[in-house]
Amino acid sequence: MSVKVPPDWPTAAAYLPERGSLTALRDAAAGCRGCPLWEPATQTVFGRGPATARLVLVGEQPGDVEDRDGKPFVGPAGRLLVKALEEAGIDKSATYVTNAVKHFRFTPTPKRRIHATPDTVHVEACKPWLTAELRAIDPELVVLLGATAIRSLLGTSVKVTRDRGTLIERETTLGTKRFLVTPHPSAVLRADDREAAYSALVHDLRVAAAALG
Ligand code: SF4
Repeated sequence: MSVKVPPDWPTAAAYLPERGSLTALRDAAAGCRGCPLWEPATQTVFGRGPATARLVLVGEQPGDVEDRDGKPFVGPAGRLLVKALEEAGIDKSATYVTNAVKHFRFTPTPKRRIHATPDTVHVEACKPWLTAELRAIDPELVVLLGATAIRSLLGTSVKVTRDRGTLIERETTLGTKRFLVTPHPSAVLRADDREAAYSALVHDLRVAAAALG
């Protein structure tokens, strides 16, 4: 079920450019102040990859490394994802990677910045960027990595533990779209049995590879 957004919630909508190319979107998103997450973060971390991508992967939000680097999935979880994609036979250079939320949410401590999960209000505020990216790319398949990405595009009726690794077809504002859900690679890094969690991720990505033919 989709989230019903109260009219007074923050939103990025006013920052979206009239032209919807990925370059125009990326440039405009750099100045987004649509919700409070922009202020403590270093920069907007927009999606990356070709506009012709057949596959889009959506994560949660940039992490500490991504926040400093300005690129999505370049930290430890990103490296694991690249390895899993290769093993599943998916060409990473032909995919577009992005996040449901484009600024790093964290709790500062004297030694480091600790990841804080974005709230529904942040996910909903940032959704216009994600929707615009998908509209510009029009991919054949969208892989949602973890609960936040799932919540953003499919609502709360889809559960990663129950629905992972199966193709889900949904009517969206962008037309009929195919999705596949799987845990975020950072969950694999945290798993007690990391090897089994990694194998399960590769298995799910192989379903995505087969769907693309
Ligand atoms: S998290 Fe999204 S909506 Fe909030 S300021 Fe950043 S880009 Fe804008």
